Amino acid sequence: MQYEPVIGLEIHAQLKTNTKIFCNCSTSFDQQPNLSTCPVCLGLPGALPVLNKKVIEYGIKTALCLNCKIADKNIFARKNYFYPDLPKGYQISQFELPLGLGGFINIGEKDNQKRIGITRLHLEEDAGKLLHRADGSLVDFNRTGIPLMEIVSEPDLRTAKDAKEFVVKLRDILLYNGVCDCNMEQGSLRCDANISVRKAGAKEFGVKTEVKNMNSFRFMQKALEYEIERQIDELESGGRIIQETRLWDEAKGVTVSMRSKEEAHDYRYFPEPDLVPVMVSVQWVEDIRKTIPELPDEKKERFVSQYNIPEYDAKVLTTSRDLADYFEDCAKLYSDAKIVSNWIMGELLREIKNDNTDIKDCSITPKMLTDMLGLIKKGVISGKIAKQVFEDMYKTGDAPQDIIEKKGLKQIMDPNAIRSIIKEIMAGNPKQVRLYRQGKTKIIGYLVGQVMKHTKGKANPQLVNKLLAEELKRD
Ligand code: ADP
Ligand code: ZN
Ligand code: MG
Repeated sequence: MQYEPVIGLEIHAQLKTNTKIFCNCSTSFDQQPNLSTCPVCLGLPGALPVLNKKVIEYGIKTALCLNCKIADKNIFARKNYFYPDLPKGYQISQFELPLGLGGFINIGEKDNQKRIGITRLHLEEDAGKLLHRADGSLVDFNRTGIPLMEIVSEPDLRTAKDAKEFVVKLRDILLYNGVCDCNMEQGSLRCDANISVRKAGAKEFGVKTEVKNMNSFRFMQKALEYEIERQIDELESGGRIIQETRLWDEAKGVTVSMRSKEEAHDYRYFPEPDLVPVMVSVQWVEDIRKTIPELPDEKKERFVSQYNIPEYDAKVLTTSRDLADYFEDCAKLYSDAKIVSNWIMGELLREIKNDNTDIKDCSITPKMLTDMLGLIKKGVISGKIAKQVFEDMYKTGDAPQDIIEKKGLKQIMDPNAIRSIIKEIMAGNPKQVRLYRQGKTKIIGYLVGQVMKHTKGKANPQLVNKLLAEELKRD
C-alpha cells in the first residue's frame, strides 16, 4: 500500500530588533540571566506595553516577500495559559487578524516548481526560559518579550526534502532582509512540523502529529523521514495515529511522544485591551516595499542571464547576500565570470568552510582574487601555481604580485631557459628518450613531468610540451 505524507510547518523567527516588542529592554543574547528585564516584560501589575514600530515594519517586509496580503487593521490578542516562564499568565499574540494572510513560497527548480501556501504570518512575544537543574528549576526572563514572527504554512508539502527546501528558502528570505539571524541552534529560528500520512489517492487528510525540537535543517529532514515511516508502520500494523506532540531525539534518531493533543486547548483569546489596533496605511506598506532587497530567486536568475554562468553556480553564489556581493565585485574587475565563479565556489568557499568563517572576514579581497586571475591570464603564473598563491593570500592577506615576487613563483616563459632544462633532463633519462624515438611517444608525459618537477612547477606546461617534442624529434 502506497502512502502519501502531508506536511505543514509552523516557524517561529526571532526578529532582529535592538529592543523587545513591548518595552525598551535589550534583545542581546549574551547577558546575565534576568538582567534584561523591566516591569513590562516581567508582567508586573500596572505596567503597560508599548509596541515597537520596527517589529511591525519587519513583519510587513517579510509578509510582502512571502506574497501575503497585509492586514490594514492589526489587533493584538491575549492568549491565556499558565506556565512558569510566562509571567503575565498570557502571551500577547495575534489571533483573528494576523498581519499577513494567504501568501506562498515556490520551491523546486524552474520547470518543476511547487507552490507552497502560507496560511498566515503573525507577530507575538516570546516566553522566558526554564533551566532544570538537580537543585531545582530556574527561570530566565531575558527572553520574555523578544519579538517573534510566526509563519504557518498550508499542508502543501509532500516530502521531508521539500519541507527542508521550504525552510531553507524562508531562511534565505529572512536573512536577505536582515530581519532575523536565523540561528537554529540558538533558537532564533524554530520549526515545528505537522505530519500525517494518507493512502495514495485519498482526499481526506490523516491524523497529524506535531514534531518539535529539530534544531538544524539536517535534523529536520531526518526527523520528518523518521516520523513518516513511523506513522506508516503504525497504520500498516493495524494501529492508529494519536494526535500528539513529539520530540526529535537526535542521539537516538527517533521521535518520542511528549504530550497528547487529543483535546484542543482553549486559550480564551480576547483582544489585548492595553494596546490600540495598529492601522497600516497603503503608503507605509509601499515605503517598506521599497526597502526590500533583491531576493535570492531574482538574484539567481539575474546572475544566469547577466553573467552567463550555469544555474548551479548562480544558486551557490546567491546563498548569501555577502557572497553574492563578493562575486559581483569580482565580476566587475574580471570579465570572465565563470572563472571567477569557479575560484569562489572551489578554493574560496572551501577555505571559508574549513575555517568556519564568513566571506565578510575573508582576507582575500575581490581585487586580490581578480588580480591573481589576471596574472594567470597573462601567463605570469600557471593555474597550478595560482593555487599556491591563493593559499598564501588567504593566510597572509598579501597581494598576489608580492607573493609571486617574494617566493619567485613567476612562470618560466623563456624558450631558451626551458630548452636548456629539457636538454639536461634528456641527458639524465637516456632510456626514456630512446623509447620515445622507438615509437613509444606516450613516454613524453614522463619527461614533461621531470621538467616540471625540476622547475618546481614554474615552467609553462604548453611550452614544455612543444619544445620537448621538438627536441625529441631532433636527433
Ligand atoms: P491546529 O489546530 O492543530 O494548530 P492547524 O489547522 O492550525 O492545526 O494547522 C497547524 C499546522 O498543521 C499548519 O501548518 C497546517 O498546514 C498543518 N496541518 C493541518 N492539518 C494537517 C494534516 N492533516 N497533516 C499535516 N499537516 C497538517
Ligand atoms: Zn522589558
Ligand atoms: Mg492552529
